[in-house]
Amino acid sequence: LQRLLPLISQLNRARGSLANSSASVEVAHDFLRQDNKPFMKPGSQPYHPLKEGIHFHQLSFAYPTQPNKVVLKEVNLDLPRGTTLALVGASGAGKSTLADLLPRFYDPTEGSITLDGIDLREFDIKSLRNNMGIVSQDTFLFNTSVHDNIAYARPDASEKDVIKAARRANALEFIEQLPGGFNTMIGDRGVLLSGGQRQRLAIARAILQNPDILILDEATSALDTVSERLVQEALEELSRDRTTLVIAHRLSTVQNADQIAVLEKGCVMEVGKHEELLRKGGYYARLYQMQFAEHPQGTPTTNPALMKA
Ligand code: ADP
Ligand code: MG
Repeated sequence: LQRLLPLISQLNRARGSLANSSASVEVAHDFLRQDNKPFMKPGSQPYHPLKEGIHFHQLSFAYPTQPNKVVLKEVNLDLPRGTTLALVGASGAGKSTLADLLPRFYDPTEGSITLDGIDLREFDIKSLRNNMGIVSQDTFLFNTSVHDNIAYARPDASEKDVIKAARRANALEFIEQLPGGFNTMIGDRGVLLSGGQRQRLAIARAILQNPDILILDEATSALDTVSERLVQEALEELSRDRTTLVIAHRLSTVQNADQIAVLEKGCVMEVGKHEELLRKGGYYARLYQMQFAEHPQGTPTTNPALMKA
């Protein structure tokens, strides 16, 4: 399953592109031609908990299918242990691609990512991925029970721990109202969940996994107000004191981040805290005006240019 994850991620992305793109045949073709990155050269270092942090050094990236299209260009970022770095920027800026490089769904074309100074490529992939939690807008839920979906990363977890994770993810209440509680089958073959419920299950899964590093891809689609608040609270709980890279679409996430990096066409244009960047009156200040300012409660924008994640 570890080895399938990148493919699932790619499929999800391809599915998104298919839904959004008129060049669907091309996208499908590209997807089929993806080289088998899950079988990339593995390192041998077992993961060890971060002491210092994550560094992106002069990182450039092009997808193997389009080697001439530079998607990330000379990215330099520092993510100290226990802090949160928020990525913001228009659709297509490269945010998801940058996040996908951390679990090594792809490797940088140039430059590197290091954990405490050690290149990601030196780590054992399985051990690395076991210590990274990913909660994305299309986190993969399986057609199985609620329990098994939460315990996916830790199948041996006790009943008590699964319930605890559900509670901390603000998911316990709705789970208990399902016809079979934790044994309810979900997905195509069972109960269909709302977007907010799916996200809270994904968060419960990550809470149970207790990863050292957290990668969040916040949803762009509006949830109802109650769901939005519950998801937000659960995400705050999950990312507290954890080294977190978040693709941020909510103003509250952006404002609370230790650092914000503004990506434009694969380049980091600015890095700083919310207040700093607003004061500077540059890219972030403009993005803020367009994307967030008229939605103080953090509802995603309706500007189609910024809607797509
Ligand atoms: P963001 O998350 O900021 O919206 P992405 O990282 O998804 O941006 O995309 C950055 C660029 O990479 C876009 O031009 C997108 O079309 C391209 N891209 C994304 N995924 C793939 C892929 N699997 N193969 C080729 N190009 C891709
Ligand atoms: Mg994205």
